[in-house]
Amino acid sequence: MIKGFFGEFGESLLVILRLPVRWVNRFRRKNFVNWVSLLPMDYKNFWLSILRRLEPTISRSQFLTWFQNTAALSLENDTLVVGTPTNFARDWIAQKYAIKILQAAEEENSAIKEVTFDVDAALSDGIDPRTIDLRAVFAKPNDKKIYKARGREEVILTRSGILSAKLNPRFTLANFVPGAENRLAHAAALSVARAPGMTYNPLVIYGGVGLGKTHLLSAIGHEVLTNNPNKVVAFTNAEIFTREFVEASKKFQADEFKKKYRDVDVLLFDDVQFLENRDKTQTELFNIFNELHGAGKQIVFTSDRPPSELTAIVDRLRSRLTWGLIAEIEQPSFQSRLEILKSKTRERRAILDPELLEFIALNVSDSVRSLESALAWSIAQTDLLKTQPTVRELGKMLGKVNKKERMLGLPEKTPELSINTPAEMIELVAKHFNLSTEAIRGESRKKEFLTARQIAMYLAREILGCGLAEIAQNFQRDHSTVLHSVRKISRELQKNEALIRHVNAVKKEMGL
Ligand code: ADP
Ligand code: MG
Repeated sequence: MIKGFFGEFGESLLVILRLPVRWVNRFRRKNFVNWVSLLPMDYKNFWLSILRRLEPTISRSQFLTWFQNTAALSLENDTLVVGTPTNFARDWIAQKYAIKILQAAEEENSAIKEVTFDVDAALSDGIDPRTIDLRAVFAKPNDKKIYKARGREEVILTRSGILSAKLNPRFTLANFVPGAENRLAHAAALSVARAPGMTYNPLVIYGGVGLGKTHLLSAIGHEVLTNNPNKVVAFTNAEIFTREFVEASKKFQADEFKKKYRDVDVLLFDDVQFLENRDKTQTELFNIFNELHGAGKQIVFTSDRPPSELTAIVDRLRSRLTWGLIAEIEQPSFQSRLEILKSKTRERRAILDPELLEFIALNVSDSVRSLESALAWSIAQTDLLKTQPTVRELGKMLGKVNKKERMLGLPEKTPELSINTPAEMIELVAKHFNLSTEAIRGESRKKEFLTARQIAMYLAREILGCGLAEIAQNFQRDHSTVLHSVRKISRELQKNEALIRHVNAVKKEMGL
């Protein structure tokens, strides 16, 4: 019904909203701002600040429905162009929210006087780097009030008034990549989350450092709460549990402490191995375990070893750890490492050269956490320097962290640059694109000439470090054209994979 109605606006409808002339003049007088072209990240931040202003004024479901997959496309002169994934979304947003968006944009920057809306189908795939993941950025626990008790970590109050732990919002099942090395643990986590207390109780997940135990444990909590927001999920670890118990005992409040856990539906207990040699705390956990287990409540532990090797855990507690299912998480294979890297890149809405991801997967094999650090470094490098690191640069970084290992997949050449001048740059780029150097220096604005020309200017500036004047002279152009080209390529490199490959290929020929 609604769809049909809005369909009548037609494809070509361009919705423009203007402020009354009186206001416009006021702004003209007060704020005369010249917009320099913004980089994609700036647009994203700008759009995020507008969304932050809008969010409290719109119902949550409307906000998530209509503003997911939107982006600020451009900001030129006094006009902000907002991108929507479909015609339908464009018409709806323009109808309902144009005034609010304009007001918010104007509060962010009073030079803006107009908002227009445009459809960009690429936004609809949900992973376009220009869009913002609203559910993550504007995450809100269902039906719960968050409050900060004095001297305590942040906790969430459930409807029934019982404390439920704050779970890491990134550690969800959707973000967890299943693979051969964690198949059993993953399946068991799913099963336990769907029917807490009904299948494997307790579930014990064990494995080495940084392999995803805490992630999977938290994911169980998220899943339980998503399926039933009234369930009480407690997430704790041996350190917190011990600290709380010791404090409660000092104040003669051990009973209070026990009571807190008695009302829990799901107890998620991370790193149980740190309870070794803490006999009193173990006894406390033993008692809580018995109560919960007896009442059919789910308990999940993680550990760095199988329960049989937790020799400093008292027998009776250790034996209970073996009552249910024990699932190991092993080191990920190359294929899994690559899948995890791809998934994390998408999660962070970045685009990285596939060759770079393979290089990381090949050389970082000890834990998923190390994979993430290498990825984070590459993304930071790309964000800050506006160009992706080459395999050689990445190899150098990894080599510093991990001196013993020889890097696999590194090009053999020495990192001496094979060229030094803009003229040589032109020749190299011409050769790469199979063009003549005249085509690059010439006036033609044919797309392939233009791109090659801009790449050559970009590399001369960014890699050879040539001055604008020198480049301008070699390319027979003025400064502003050079600057524009360099900026354009920097911007494009953040979203255009084909361009990334060309640039990296030329860099390699330069010996990088
Ligand atoms: P552990 O508790 O085993 O030391 P974590 O659960 O803290 O490890 O995981 C370390 C990092 O690796 C986290 O950022 C987590 O998201 C990530 N991680 C581990 N395994 C996976 C996986 N299979 N899929 C996605 N991310 C993973
Ligand atoms: Mg952990």
